[in-house]
Amino acid sequence: MKLYYVNKNPQIRGEHEVHSSDCIYLPTLENRQYLGYFNNCAEAVKEARKFYANVDGCFYCCPQCHTK
Ligand SMILES: [Zn+2]
Repeated sequence: MKLYYVNKNPQIRGEHEVHSSDCIYLPTLENRQYLGYFNNCAEAVKEARKFYANVDGCFYCCPQCHTK
């Protein structure tokens, strides 16, 4: 299991990115919403959708969930 966060501030195209806690692009403390521990990024993305409609996985730490 990994710990996941979602960006509070959206990307240029409007999506909020999901990151695992070990990502080198993990957002700053003020800019990340805690999601919790999940088995995979798909579960983390599902959780993030409770907060934001437009969610995508990070290209670097969640490539299986990166769609945009
Ligand atoms: Zn990431």
